[in-house]
Formats: sequence, structure tokens, C-alpha cells
Amino acid sequence: MSAPEVGYDIPATVGMAETEIETPALIVDLDAFERNIVKMRDFCAAAGVRLRAHGKMHKSADVAKHQISFGGSTGICCQKTAEAHAFARAGVDDILITNQVRGAAKIARLAEIAKIARLIVCCDDIANVAELSAAATAASVAIEVLVEIDCGAGRCGVTEPSAVVAIAKAIEAAPGLKFSGIQAYQGAMQHMERHEDRKAKFRIAVAMVTDAIAALKAEGIACETVSGGGTGSYALEAGSGVYTELQCGSYAFMDADYGRVLDSKGARLDRGEWENSLFILTSVMSHVKSDQAVCDAGLKAQSVDSGLPVIYGRDDVEYVECSDEHGVIADPKGALKINDRLRLVPGHCDPTCNLHDWYVGVRNGRVEALWPVTARGLSY
Ligand code: PLP
Ligand code: MN
Repeated sequence: MSAPEVGYDIPATVGMAETEIETPALIVDLDAFERNIVKMRDFCAAAGVRLRAHGKMHKSADVAKHQISFGGSTGICCQKTAEAHAFARAGVDDILITNQVRGAAKIARLAEIAKIARLIVCCDDIANVAELSAAATAASVAIEVLVEIDCGAGRCGVTEPSAVVAIAKAIEAAPGLKFSGIQAYQGAMQHMERHEDRKAKFRIAVAMVTDAIAALKAEGIACETVSGGGTGSYALEAGSGVYTELQCGSYAFMDADYGRVLDSKGARLDRGEWENSLFILTSVMSHVKSDQAVCDAGLKAQSVDSGLPVIYGRDDVEYVECSDEHGVIADPKGALKINDRLRLVPGHCDPTCNLHDWYVGVRNGRVEALWPVTARGLSY
């Protein structure tokens, strides 16, 4: 096999100048990334909660290993079975799948993962308990299970404490399974702009979790883990006295949509609390109209489901329109020139990362790391 070639197989090589990276490329400002993960580590340690960073955000074993080795993360969360398997094969040995796993092939795969890693999975249906138990016993492994509560997101999860108890009892009685607690992630509140609005949703969520824990206790069932929380709400879960584990993902990279979210003092989350560390590096390739530049990062370089990207550090130019491979930039003062490079803060980090094969880690103007997006495309 011939050596990988920059611009064909890889966007950059370690040691090259940032100015030589082929664009568009997904770049990580390593200083900012490291500050973010250390900050969350210190926050969780001070609050007395465990951190289990969400790996679906970055899908990278290298990022996960940084979070585990010095970012205070006990292991990682995944959203999908194949994603979890990719992380486990890369050496991550403590994984929570924050999701339901159904279908014989996927459940058999869970048991394979449990051979090489501690594996925890969510469940919201008593019929799923027998399926998980059969796969675990067939493979002679143990699978831990959290009962998922729908605490306001309107997605997966049961809503009645009696249902939590019934599923927990079934898990406790099932060979090969261990009941480990509750999954209670309120995804719908994370991106609400006002802190007060998130807090109001959180109060509903925590009341539901508290009721479920009480119902379990009344049956003599201990609830070891209560897992949930994201970048928009983590301080609320951490201070609740009920949640034991946080699942934040975006805090490590941030994105433009989270930048618009305000903290309890009314400040933007990306001005103080967390730093943007993830960017799409793009180049200006056309500037025929005096007030408009066109760059090489369009829809295929970033997800725009949560809005267009924001051009980092510039208020004189604005990314205004996106097509497959073009980004139209309003440049009213004609400030941009051909080949000028810009850092775009993607609207939404998670689906953007899934569009790329590589992260290019940069520090002091140099490429320091090239990390594969390990679980790219693994939505099975
Ligand atoms: N937990 C679950 C179950 C999620 O689906 C997500 C993201 O959507 C997260 C945690 C992490 O959230 P965030 O990226 O907002 O920190
Ligand atoms: Mn997201």
C-alpha cells in the first residue's frame, strides 16, 4: 500500500504548518480542548458526581482516551451498538449505551462487547429484558442495565414509577443481567436559550427521577446510578443530590448553537464557561463579487441542522448560505482575499464530526495530531 497522501487520503500530516492543511478540514484547537476537559473534570470532582463523557459527539477513540486519562471521565457513553463496539475494540473498557438496543443481531453484538469491556445498556420495555438476558447467558457475560425514564424529552423511556419497578425487578431476576440504576436524560431542554427555562424543565425531570427512586426503595431495590445531563444542564443535575453521573458531550468541542445558550448569569456558554475548540478550516476560493466571498466548506463539510456556521473571531464577515460544496460569505467591506483561511464554528458539533474521517489537532500553528473519527458512520 502506498503512503497516505495529503489531500486525498488525509487532510494533513503531523508536523506541518496549519497553513498547509488541505481544506475543508475538521480541526481541533488542542489547547482549548484540553482546557475544556480539565474544567469539566474539576467541576465534577468539586460537585461529587461522576463524569461519563458522551462519545457520540466526537466518535473518536483518541478524544475518549484524553477524556478518560486526564479529563476525569470514568468511561464513555455511546448511542449505538456498533459505535460502542468500535470504542471497545480501540481499548475503551467502560461503556454505557444511552439507548435501547433491539433486534437479535445487535443484542448478540452487545454480548460480544461485554467480553472486552464493562457494558451498560438502557431498557424501557420488559420484553427487552429477556432478550438481553438470553444473549448475556449464551455468551457467559454480564450486562448491566439502566431503566430509562422519559423525564421530558418525549423520546424513549417509561414515565410511571411502577413501570420502572417492574422492569428493574425483571432485570434483577434475569440471569446474566445486573440492575444498575436509572437513565434520565432530558434532551429537549439542553438548547433552550434561557437558564430559567431549562431550570423549569429540570425541576420536572428531577421530580420524576426522585419518584422512581422512592418506588424502587419501597421494594428494597437500590439505585446505584442515576445518569443524565448535558452541556446545557449539567450544573443542575450535579447539584441535585439525585444524579450520580453526568453524560455531557458537546462541552469538549462546543458549537455555534450551544454558543447561543445563556448561563445562569445571562452570559453565552461559549464566552467563559466553555471554549470553541472544534472548527472547520476553510479557504476562500472565489471573490468575483466585491461584497461576497465563496469558501470551500459547504453542506458536505458540516451539518446545518442547528443553523449555519459562525466565522470565528470575525464580525466583519458572515457565512450566509450553504450548498453542497460552497459556502457563501457576506463580505461587505471586501476584507477577504483568495486563499484566505477562516475557522468556522459548526452549527452542531455531533453530526458535523460524523462527516469527516479525521481530526487535525493543532497547537501554536502546527499540526500536532491526526486522529481518525473511529466510529464515523457507525449508526447501527
Ligand atoms: N446523553 C444523551 C442520551 C444524549 O443524547 C446526549 C446528546 O444529545 C448527551 C447526553 C450529551 O449532550 P450534550 O452534547 O448536550 O452535552
Ligand atoms: Mn448535539
